[in-house]
Formats: sequence, structure tokens, C-alpha cells
Amino acid sequence: MASSTRPLALRAACSLRAPRCLRSTAAARQEQPGEPARPPPPPDPERGSARGGTGPRGTRRVQPPPPAVDFGDPREAFRSKSSAELVRALVVLRLCALEPLVARSRQLMNLSRKLLGQQRFEQLMKMTFYGQFVAGEDQEAIKPLIQRNRAFGVGSVLDYSVEEDLTPEEAERKEMDSCTSASEKETGARSPYLSPGAAQREKQYLAHREFGDRRDRVISARTYFYADETKCDQHMDTFLRCIEASGGSSEDSFSAIKLTALGRPQFLLQFSEVLMKWRKFFHQMAAEQGKAGLAVMETKLEVKKLQETLANLGIATKAESQHWFTGEDLGVSGTVDLLDWNSLIDSRTKLSKLLLIPNMKRALELGVRLMVDAEQTYFQPAISRLTLEMQRKFNMEKAVVFNTFQCYLKEAYDNVTMDVELSRREGWHFGAKLVRGAYMEQEQARAAQVGYEDPLNPTYEKTNEMYQRCLDYVLEEIKYSQKIKVMVASHNEDTVTFTIRRMAELGIHPSEKKVYFGQLLGMCDQITFPLGQAGYPVYKYVPYGPVNEVLPYLSRRALENRGFMKRAKRERDLLWSEFKRRLITGSLFCNPSH
Ligand SMILES: Cc1cc2nc3c(=O)[nH]c(=O)nc-3n(C[C@H](O)[C@H](O)[C@H](O)COP(=O)(O)OP(=O)(O)OC[C@H]3O[C@@H](n4cnc5c(N)ncnc54)[C@H](O)[C@@H]3O)c2cc1C
Repeated sequence: MASSTRPLALRAACSLRAPRCLRSTAAARQEQPGEPARPPPPPDPERGSARGGTGPRGTRRVQPPPPAVDFGDPREAFRSKSSAELVRALVVLRLCALEPLVARSRQLMNLSRKLLGQQRFEQLMKMTFYGQFVAGEDQEAIKPLIQRNRAFGVGSVLDYSVEEDLTPEEAERKEMDSCTSASEKETGARSPYLSPGAAQREKQYLAHREFGDRRDRVISARTYFYADETKCDQHMDTFLRCIEASGGSSEDSFSAIKLTALGRPQFLLQFSEVLMKWRKFFHQMAAEQGKAGLAVMETKLEVKKLQETLANLGIATKAESQHWFTGEDLGVSGTVDLLDWNSLIDSRTKLSKLLLIPNMKRALELGVRLMVDAEQTYFQPAISRLTLEMQRKFNMEKAVVFNTFQCYLKEAYDNVTMDVELSRREGWHFGAKLVRGAYMEQEQARAAQVGYEDPLNPTYEKTNEMYQRCLDYVLEEIKYSQKIKVMVASHNEDTVTFTIRRMAELGIHPSEKKVYFGQLLGMCDQITFPLGQAGYPVYKYVPYGPVNEVLPYLSRRALENRGFMKRAKRERDLLWSEFKRRLITGSLFCNPSH
């Protein structure tokens, strides 16, 4: 974000404009250039039909059968690893399973640093936790690992993982400062949370001191706290360096971005609130028209009734709202869906011009794709919307910007379907990463304590259902479209197996490179490497950064394995099998890839 333009963004986002298109979904679908109406799919010259189909100039393109993948073969899983790396993984994953050790990892690291001195401490970390979970200190140091993974069919999503080492009190102070406006601070002296201005605001989108330390109960994600605009510009430089490192490391790479690093969180909070209130308003209108409970893309407001309601509520006279609803196809459909409704909050020209352009330009020049991470629910609507603005602008030729959808959210399916539909109407490429979600404990505690509806699915099983539903929907769409790409970012073997099976059923071959897989470096190699060897596009999230500055992130990463004991045990069993195999066959010191 260019710092001088940042304050303008919210105002831009809130300005009302006439909707761009008010046509029905089906009509829009048919008009989409390069996108066949469904069903049945007409032959697509590039893609062919779902199974094999017709290739260029009418030749029959017979696809090879999808490759088999075995997640239980230790030799295949660890082919890229030296025996020393096997031992390191065994030791580190075993240590991660020791609860008291992990719980005090931060203190233990600090103590070791004092006892050993900086240099020896760094060596120790590189031989253990850092070596297991972090690729290296800088873009040069990480190159060998990236190239080795690439040789085994595994790509990289570079993630510069430096975190400020703040105490919980410092983090809390910074958060309260940066999430509260000057006027709220003034009046907030009387009431800590609900100043008169804030009383109009939704509790979910206000800063709450007891949740000021956003790192609390979050394991695998880096966390940024706002200091000032200069610091944001430094973060932007960091992201630019990360993009350059991605460009230099391999073709087809990604760079991960966190939007909370690039601006004042107060903006993300307030923008999120505006977006969610706007959406709620649409659903209230739908309920008034007797359309409550329909799937989001099936919910269509009748414009005539809508105008009456707006007039009755004193929001706009019929003459005024007539001006809003003057889409060219209004006469045909006479209805407004949530996408049309959202387009009334016109941000297209302004937001996309103002935000994140330096990152994007560099990424485009270097052929790097950007993966925008999903964060807490009180920021996420804004993050997602800003990402969408970038997709509209930069995804016209191919998917350069990828958004992230968290399937532990009750509204995940609505979010995915709406963005896919919008991309189809507007003709840009949709790119998404599907995750379950990293902030569960914090989100649940915040909702319960602050007193708003828990935005998360109530159980793990419901989250699994949601993941499967979103994934199934996207895969079905991929079957018919050249313009959709998805990364299945999960360590769950069942999820990966399900994806592979559905890809085979739908005739999506891995060589089409429309479905990617993603895991974190140092975890679940038994999933990543067999996928890569079988020809499925698969990526490791690759954290890097100087030892000391990565430590705060690293100590929380150790917790990740603790939560998934069964999975970590399976990984350790496989590592152990491979170690024993090498020992018995006398190949402990041979090059493992031979
Ligand atoms: C490559 C990659 C990129 C990632 N990027 C992001 C990102 O941008 N944003 C982000 O938030 N996360 C991200 N994550 C983390 C991810 O969201 C998960 O936290 C993590 O991967 C564990 O989920 P799983 O599918 O691997 O494993 P599983 O063990 O199958 O799932 C665990 C997850 O299920 C959900 N869950 C567990 N119990 C419950 C319950 N009782 N009720 C409801 N849900 C429950 C939680 O989300 C929990 O993390 C990423 C993960 C990977 C591998």
C-alpha cells in the first residue's frame, strides 16, 4: 500500500454506485468469454471434454490414467532426505511430542542461547528445530533446498517468517493503539470498550484488550503488529524481496503475503464491518421477501419490492434507488443477487488503484504468483475483498493472485461460490487456497467472551464436511473451466486422498496443473513427496529468515505437531522404517535418491 493513499481506501469502499451488472447467473454464465454454458460442456479446443476429449484440430486426446500415489511408502516419502536429515526429523518430531518441553520452548530457547552463546546456539538450532522447519536465513541460503525439492517435483511458496519478538503486554498495547481511532480513544477513557462512536459498531469488529495479543493460541501462522507507516513500508520491502527470491528460485513459484503486515488494522476492522453489515442487510431484505435460508447464489431480491423497502426505511426514495438499479439487463431479470448488491459498494476503480500495486507489479515482472493468507475473522472480510480487487485487476490472463478460504467458517461455502461466480461474470481467473483455518481456539474464545455468534463450525466433523463441500464445488467448476485453480492446503491424508479420487472421477488430470497441493516445510513429507513424484503439482510453504528473528514463530510451530499426535506418530513411524531400511541394506551413507 502506498502509505499516503491508505486512509482513502475505506471512503472509496463505501461510496455508492450503480451496479455493473444485474443479469441472471445463467445469462452471465452463457456470456462469459471462453466459458461454456453447462450442462453439457461443449468441446473446448484447449482442454477437451472431461475425460480425454477432443484435442486441437479435432484429434482425440486420450489422457493417461491418473498416477497412483502411495502415502505409506517410506522409501518414496524420504527419497530426497539424507540419513542425517532423517535422524534430525525423528529427533525433532519426537521432542515436539513432549508436552512440557513444547509448552516451555520459548524459555528453553532463551536459556540455551544464554548458556551456549549466540554462535553455538544458532548451530544447535540449525541442527534441530530451525533446520527442520525453516529453509535458511536469506534468499541465497534457501536456494539448495528449493532446487532439491524441485528435483523431486515439489515447488515452493516462499514465506519470509520474521516476527517481532514482543512480550504479550507490548503486543496488546500495539494492537489497542492501532485498532482504535483517535475519537474512540478520546471517549474510550470513559468506557474501555464502547465509546459513543463504538456503541454503533459491532462487537466482533472492535478491538478487545484481552485478545490484543493475536499470537495467543495461534500456532502455525506468523503475526504482525502495527507500529507505524514506516514499518509497513519495511514489510512491503520484505515482501518484495520475497517475491524476488521466489522469482529467482524456480519457475512457477509462489510468494505468501499477509495483509495485516501492510496497513493499519483499524482499517481492516472497519472495512470488514462495513462489508459484513452490507451483506447482513441483503439477507434481511431477502427474509422480508420470504427468501430466507436459500443458498447464497439462489437468493435474489425483486427490485420493485426492494425499492419499496428502501423507501419505507427512509434510505432512498424510489426515484433515487431507480438510479442505482439501472443495469442494462434489469428488464430481463428484475432481480438483484448478492453480487449485484455488493457491486453497489463500488471499490473497483479506487481500491484496486490504491492498494498493493508495487508488490503486484514486481510479482508480474518475475512471473511469481501471490498467495494471500487468510487471517482472523474480524479482518478477513476486508482481506478477502482487497484480494478480490487485485484478482479483478491482475488475473485477467492467468491466476496470479490466489485468495485463501477457511473452511472452519460457517460461511465458507457462500464465500467460495460467490467469488467463483463473480470471476465467471467478470471474466477473470479464480485462484484459491482451501484451508481448514489456523485461528480456531482464539476465534472460539473471543466469540464466547466478547459475546457474538461463533463464526466457526461447531465441530471438527462439520469443518470436514465444509471442506469437502467447498472442494467438491471447486473441482466440479474446474471440470468445465480453464479459469479456475485451487490449492488443497492440508496435512490431512483423507482430504488429499479424497481430492485425488474426485479428480479422477471428474477427469481432471494432474498434468493440467489446475489442482495443487500444499503442506508446510518439515511436516508430512510422506504426503508431499509421493504426490510430487507421481506428477501432482505440490508445494511446500517454505519459511525463511535469520535464526533469531524466526524464533518466535518457530516456538509456536513446535506446538503444531503437538496438536496432531496421531499424524506425527505416523510420520515418525515412517521415518523410523526408512532409517532401519537404510541401516539393514547398508545404504545409510549412500545418496538417498539413487
Ligand atoms: C500450505 C498451508 C497453508 C496454510 N495457510 C493458511 C492460511 O492462509 N490461513 C489459515 O487460517 N490457515 C492456514 N493454514 C493452516 C490450516 O488452516 C490448518 O490450521 C492446518 O493445516 C491444519 O489443518 P489440516 O487440514 O492440515 O489438518 P486437520 O487435522 O484435518 O484439521 C485441523 C483443523 O480442523 C479444524 N478443527 C479442528 N477441530 C475443530 C472443531 N472442534 N471445530 C471446528 N473446526 C475444527 C481447525 O481448523 C484445525 O486447524 C495453512 C496450512 C497449510 C498446510
